[in-house]
Amino acid sequence: MPGRLGPLMTTDDLASIDRDALAILNRVFGYASFRGPQRQIVAHVAAGGDALVLMPTGGGKSLCYQIPALLRDGVAVVISPLIALMQDQVDALRELGVRAAFLNSSLGAREAAAVERALAAGELDLLYVAPERLLTPRCLELLDGAKLALFAIDEAHCVSQWGHDFRPEYLQLAVLHERWPQVPRIALTATADALTRREIVEKLALQSAREFVSSFDRPNIRYRIVEKIDPKRQLLDFISGAHAGEAGIVYCASRAKVEETAHWLSAQGIAALPYHAGLDNSTRSTHQARFLREDGLVMVATIAFGMGIDKPDVRFVAHLDMPKSVEGYYQETGRAGRDGEPAEAWMAYGLADVVQQRRLIEQSEADDAYKRVATAKLDAMLGLAETIDCRRVRLLAYFGEASTACGNCDNCLEPPQPWDATEPARKLLSCIYRIRQASGFGFGAQHVIAVLRGQASERVRQHRHDALSTFGIGADLSETEWRAVLRQLIAQGLVSVDHARHQVLVLADASRALLRGERTLQMRRPKAGPGRRTGRNARRARGESANEGAASQAGVGGDAVEALFERLKQWRRATASERGVPPYVIFHDATLRGIAERRPATLAELAGIGGVGEKKLDAYGAQLIDLIGSAGP
Ligand code: ADP
Ligand code: ZN
Repeated sequence: MPGRLGPLMTTDDLASIDRDALAILNRVFGYASFRGPQRQIVAHVAAGGDALVLMPTGGGKSLCYQIPALLRDGVAVVISPLIALMQDQVDALRELGVRAAFLNSSLGAREAAAVERALAAGELDLLYVAPERLLTPRCLELLDGAKLALFAIDEAHCVSQWGHDFRPEYLQLAVLHERWPQVPRIALTATADALTRREIVEKLALQSAREFVSSFDRPNIRYRIVEKIDPKRQLLDFISGAHAGEAGIVYCASRAKVEETAHWLSAQGIAALPYHAGLDNSTRSTHQARFLREDGLVMVATIAFGMGIDKPDVRFVAHLDMPKSVEGYYQETGRAGRDGEPAEAWMAYGLADVVQQRRLIEQSEADDAYKRVATAKLDAMLGLAETIDCRRVRLLAYFGEASTACGNCDNCLEPPQPWDATEPARKLLSCIYRIRQASGFGFGAQHVIAVLRGQASERVRQHRHDALSTFGIGADLSETEWRAVLRQLIAQGLVSVDHARHQVLVLADASRALLRGERTLQMRRPKAGPGRRTGRNARRARGESANEGAASQAGVGGDAVEALFERLKQWRRATASERGVPPYVIFHDATLRGIAERRPATLAELAGIGGVGEKKLDAYGAQLIDLIGSAGP
């Protein structure tokens, strides 16, 4: 159903809006074509319609209101809860020659007054405002006196009382529609589920808005989930192998682990900073600012870090602990590769993750209904971690989207060997059973595995478990393999861990079917023992990335491209610090890479590269042509 359109729009009017929109995309933003549904959204809003836009992170939501803002008369008011970002967003727009400003609590009285004057004088195309600021009588009056092009409500899921980003002020934003019924509104979010969508429509009175729902796929992100064996070492290999010198985020579950990991990475020569809620405000904001402004920093963080980090060139997100839901995993990994360039989501996952997450749920104070939901969410996450099929297909299916094998996840690239682990699983279950029968109480994973493998440790002998019929029946598998089997059994709910009693293993009722031979256990074949990815594999992973252009392949040409890319980055760093903005405000990596690959010799050629608009061509074109000319072939 088409949404509300402005009065008396003819098809000719619509065609001309469409043409003008494309011209602005080319001239101001330097992009050749719209992405996905952007074109329809821009045309709809520019013509005066209301819209609800659901698009994944990095999908290109900003252009959906920025271009209508330039097409329509007056100022577009952008409501965003992310005060810390406004400065960068405004800087980026000014770099493009767009008249933008922001109003929030970080401005001094004098600066705010200057913005208000510019607004009243009609000198602004875009005004970013924090919701609490917008709702003040003073600000509402100010807007009464201005010509309004549209309202953009960013992070619209903040109206949802059930979500963790809830902002009470968002509930009052329905006032915009009551006060200015003629001004079109566009609400945007990357949070997909149907419930949140309904809440947004209801709370913001967007019943007549047209909904634009994009695919939630992030094709440039490569998903990898590895067995946790020696996690810090595996992380180091991952970073130094495929992402040396690149910006990334490493998520850990606890503050202590954040500190320890950041410290350790730094000692290994990786520039890494910690971030968690236990650090004081000034340390947190310095670390965040450094992450945004410097090239190639690794942020080691708890999930306190992330909301509103829209640094486009985060090349990897690594998890040393498993998130408790697929939503969490998708949101956190989604912070990689917003610029559309190849990026990796990597996670090390093992027995301890499963045990720990199950324990958190069991020991929580919440009621049974909550625990059931939490368990179902965890099961879905475990399913994703354990699957031997395409990860992306699983991930998208979780959000209700059908797809086919992606070719850009570990399971697609290096298909795991399926393994019928029914026999080992039955041995393990019997061993747990026999031990409890013999001793009258249970034992933990390490002990049970020692018995299976026939290791007559002191403790095993002391309890006479070396006399059990299951002693040594599993000597053919390594400890790592046994832990993988156990992990699988716990993940599938066949074995539970009694946290109140020294983590002892307990058979769940569901295990009977397996013991009786009524069901089987299929899993990926685990690695036999401690091992790690070699540098060559890691490089290969990088080489296979979705990079276009023959020149980006390894070889002599590739080296020259890399060398020029590095020089361009140096130039960008210097220029950015001179202007006091983050490097990506000058040019995104994708643009620099395009320049390095195509080596434009003239301004006209340079203008043909994605991300080089009119204003930037003026400001930097000559410098860049010089730099390329002096860089040698
Ligand atoms: P979102 O807000 O949806 O996370 P952004 O609006 O920040 O995404 O856009 C993500 C990235 O994609 C930005 O680097 C932006 O410049 C780029 N981008 C958006 N639209 C286009 C387009 N049509 N062509 C090329 N790049 C685009
Ligand atoms: Zn895949």
